[in-house]
Formats: sequence, structure tokens, C-alpha cells
Amino acid sequence: MTAGAGPERASSPACWCCGGEFEEAELVRLGAHPEVGICRDCAVWAKRRAAVRRHEQHPSLPGHLRSGLDTIRSAVIARGWHERGALGMFLRRVDRWLP
Ligand SMILES: [Zn+2]
Repeated sequence: MTAGAGPERASSPACWCCGGEFEEAELVRLGAHPEVGICRDCAVWAKRRAAVRRHEQHPSLPGHLRSGLDTIRSAVIARGWHERGALGMFLRRVDRWLP
């Protein structure tokens, strides 16, 4: 057997963050490195992480509010409330609209 059996060229492209397989249309490609694609959930996660870093470097009132939301989000996830039936569905829906 020959020819590049690279793991990244299997069936579907994979997210470089979580490793999940997605359709190409569901991935966001990086500008300077188009070979790197991340899924929408990981893109949202990366955006939130970037906002945390920005706040750490430039504290502000919106940053403090965001930090409070992150604390609440972490507490909800730690308790597994986001996976509880209707409550979980509600919390996940609310989370989509939070910064
Ligand atoms: Zn991902």
C-alpha cells in the first residue's frame, strides 16, 4: 500500500479544536492558515476565550459583566444543569444569546 493515508483526509473534514467530523460548510477556516478549520461551537468557545483575554488585559465594566456570566456558565456546567431535559434546553438556548 502506498499513497498518503493521512488521518486528516478520511471521510469528512475534522475540527482542529474538538476533533469532531463536520461537513465543510460547518467549519470556519482561519485566514492565514486555511488548512485549519474549527466547528461553530469551537469558534464560539474561541471567541469567548479571546474576550476573556481582552478583559484581562483591559479591564472594563462590560468585561466584569462578562466575567460574571462566565462564572455562572461554569457553575451551571459543573453541576450538569445544561444536560437536564427542559431546563438544559432552556439554559443552552439562553447561552446562545449571551456574549
Ligand atoms: Zn470543534
